[in-house]
Amino acid sequence: MSDTDMKSSNVVWHAPVTTREARERRNGHKGVIIWFTGLSGAGKSTVAHALEDSLHSMGCHTFTLDGDNVRHGLCGDLGFSDEDRVENIRRVGEMSKLFVEAGMITLTAFISPFRSDRDKVRELVAEGDLIEVYTRCSLEECEARDVKGLYKKARAGEIPHFTGISSPYEEPENPEIVVDTDKHDVDECMKQILTYLKVNGFVNTNGV
Ligand code: ADP
Repeated sequence: MSDTDMKSSNVVWHAPVTTREARERRNGHKGVIIWFTGLSGAGKSTVAHALEDSLHSMGCHTFTLDGDNVRHGLCGDLGFSDEDRVENIRRVGEMSKLFVEAGMITLTAFISPFRSDRDKVRELVAEGDLIEVYTRCSLEECEARDVKGLYKKARAGEIPHFTGISSPYEEPENPEIVVDTDKHDVDECMKQILTYLKVNGFVNTNGV
């Protein structure tokens, strides 16, 4: 949110004494957002949680913000209209930014179908602080998986604005990583991201 959009005027930014850099030094790894985007059922949550488990085992400080979980609380007042989806991603973006300041490896699993919303999140943080992971899977395969039975309901017209059926999904143009979950298994997708984190110095190659 820009300063001009803010409703409250008498608020002054208070610089932290314990800095992000100090936290990262202590953690032994960088704070970063790993932003999973893709169709429902593409595997965002599955890969994110598998990756978090690996990172956690290595001693990294992590947290996963998951679409459905966030809608139980922070975004419980939002639906799936275009307007509400935009606000949902804005809130998650701001929240993720705070987690990065806290030095955490922050994994987010949201369909986040609109390119402009994902770009806004990227603009919230410094360059290199966000790794976009396009969790790619054909609509046919997602529909065949139908993990939550939502595609069936959407086809029956019971769920309005369902991404891929009655609402668009805009593919990322320049994601840092693409994992093809209909070609590779969960472990391969997870390791692909882990390798990226190691090669690019987000975590040490010998653990943290
Ligand atoms: P999303 O979070 O994108 O809605 P989920 O992770 O909830 O998707 O569901 C993905 C489903 O696809 C799970 O049932 C998972 O076991 C299955 N699946 C099969 N192959 C893969 C893969 N390579 N990566 C992730 N999930 C996969």
